[in-house]
Amino acid sequence: MKLIRFLYNEEDLYGLLDGGRILILPFLFDWLPKRVEDFINMGTKAVLDVERLVNEVSERDRKEFSIDLNEVKLLAPILNPPKIICLGLNYWDHAAEQGARIPDEPIIFMKPRTSIVGPNQPIVKPDFVKKLDYEGELAVIIGKKGKYIPISEAREYIFGYTIFNDVTARDIQFKDRQWTRGKSFDTFAPMGPCIATKDQIKNPENLRIRTWVNGELRQDSSTSNMVFSVYEVVHHLSRVMTLEPCDVIATGTPAGVGVFMKPEPKFLKPGDLVEIEIEGIGKLRNKVIAEAYA
Ligand code: MG
Repeated sequence: MKLIRFLYNEEDLYGLLDGGRILILPFLFDWLPKRVEDFINMGTKAVLDVERLVNEVSERDRKEFSIDLNEVKLLAPILNPPKIICLGLNYWDHAAEQGARIPDEPIIFMKPRTSIVGPNQPIVKPDFVKKLDYEGELAVIIGKKGKYIPISEAREYIFGYTIFNDVTARDIQFKDRQWTRGKSFDTFAPMGPCIATKDQIKNPENLRIRTWVNGELRQDSSTSNMVFSVYEVVHHLSRVMTLEPCDVIATGTPAGVGVFMKPEPKFLKPGDLVEIEIEGIGKLRNKVIAEAYA
């Protein structure tokens, strides 16, 4: 299923995308929890049960417990993840565009959850950030707690996938020579528009990923160009830290980021629209605005 989190009448709800409508799952099935995090905690069996039961829902209930997509405010699918773990230099094409050496183990860093924003919400550019950049990425949502997860079992620990924009202040990233400050500003982690559960994504190692800025195609690659595959990433990370349900893992960006554009870099400015599309998931759109009180 494509799981959507949204705000309707001030209520934080979740549902299943059904054409242009959202089936509100906790209204449709009273045995489901009210919070999407608790639903994710129920694991894959609950997803498969819901998918089966939704097919048996009467037309009347389907109408009564659904709402038009245009009538809600979409939220990031996970608002308070235990962790946001990100990969650096995880695409061959992205390493090549900057002449970087391919790492022999994943390079990781973390972003704070206060950087998360949902679809259609603005990326806020502080005035002192001069080189603002996008990074279109596939993100894994963890569904089950695990440590020392073998590659062959990694799929079991994944709940689903979403789209992530690892927004970065290049000037600050390069000045600090490590990545925390440059990647941790509020609004620097747009996420969504939905979680495609893993049964929807037959092969996460071969998904087309594209990013546009104001309609101009900037990134056009495939997850087949990852240095460490999704399952290898889960394995490696779980050797370091316990993975928990609702953890978000952003798996790195392909070639085509603004800072390495030729003949000269193209950074984001207020008014720019960033769109990231990943096959099987959807499209994440966010506009850049200037910080009001800068
Ligand atoms: Mg990144």
